[in-house]
Amino acid sequence: MTDLFSKFDPLIQQREDLLATGVKDPFSLVMEEVKSPTVAVCNGKETILLGTYNYMGMTFDPDVIAAGKDALDRFGAGTTGSRVLNGTYQGHRDCEEALKEFYGMDHAMVFSTGYQANLGIISTIAGKDDYVILDIDSHASIYDGCALGNAQIVAFRHNDVEALEKRLKRLPSEAGKLVVLEGVYSMLGDIAPLKEMIRVSKEAGAMVLVDEAHSMGFMGPNGRGVAEDQGVLDDVDFVIGTFSKSVGTVGGFCVSNHPKFEILRLVCRPYVFTASLPPSVVATAATSIRKLMHGGDKRAHLWENSKRLHKGLKDLGFTLGTETPQSAIIAVIMPDLEKGAAMWEALLSEGLYVNLARPPATPANMTLLRCSLCAEHSAAQVEQILGMFAAAGRAVGCIS
Ligand code: PMP
Repeated sequence: MTDLFSKFDPLIQQREDLLATGVKDPFSLVMEEVKSPTVAVCNGKETILLGTYNYMGMTFDPDVIAAGKDALDRFGAGTTGSRVLNGTYQGHRDCEEALKEFYGMDHAMVFSTGYQANLGIISTIAGKDDYVILDIDSHASIYDGCALGNAQIVAFRHNDVEALEKRLKRLPSEAGKLVVLEGVYSMLGDIAPLKEMIRVSKEAGAMVLVDEAHSMGFMGPNGRGVAEDQGVLDDVDFVIGTFSKSVGTVGGFCVSNHPKFEILRLVCRPYVFTASLPPSVVATAATSIRKLMHGGDKRAHLWENSKRLHKGLKDLGFTLGTETPQSAIIAVIMPDLEKGAAMWEALLSEGLYVNLARPPATPANMTLLRCSLCAEHSAAQVEQILGMFAAAGRAVGCIS
């Protein structure tokens, strides 16, 4: 018998080597208690959360929690079915109405996760003779959507408008084309030049999908994302998003003005062949989305936090993923995995949780300590976080 697991041996070895240096496993942290959007108990210690993507702090919003409890009481724990069978409850419809209102678009489709939204939409709308043109640093769910479908895949250099234009010009003019972009790229926290990219895409006759997972709720005057911020939302054919970040629960969606959009409910396999979200989840999502429409003050505070942390870390001597703060994600570039893991552990023992990110999730083989800020972080917490980075960075030898 050939052991099908032998292909994982190099990774198993790398993990064992890392643990042999004495660091804790950074990928098996347990949150023993979660006290608020910004504080949890980890390893018995009160810890500031700086790696949750809980940008708008909606997980503990009292209206959101009340809506979830009420739906649990009135509709039960789960739907036990697909959206096209017994799995569409009033709450799913309400949630889709909230999304249509939030984006000012004609159609909204809720999926069980954002991962499935990308998987479903990309694999379904780009068929055999079509092309998907995507940024090389796209999220795994975008790549997996391509792998599930039958279209030809063409990648272009990260955020490079000229490279996108060149690739588009080489494709047959009559072929169906879907350009897939993200508003904020989650590894380095950089934003896409959507305005220019959408212009060259439209000139080439392509449809455009923008994944706004890390920008919904925060970027743009109404929190609709980077496309809104850059004034080009009307030119986007499909917006993909998630409930697992600013919305504060779990789920995914696609919104669109395409007149034939509703047919997707019958042909999109990751929508049809899986159970729908529980009633409590869609109730929390709908309530949260409606509140996010009026989240201007929170958005402003989140920007202040992001700018302060970026400047503070830069002043301490850390190398960051972006020269200037572009989003609520601030990535600290580590020299290698060993130093990154040691720094991650030193921060945790200071009482700070961040994300350790490593290849293949990261671009250019980088090891990153990714920080994502929350609108509920107080100014005092941000100063405390900077103090923890200073202490851990000096202890590990990342800064002098
Ligand atoms: N798209 C992007 C850009 C993401 O970062 C993520 C999650 N990290 C997803 C999609 C998937 O979202 P979900 O967690 O809802 O599956």
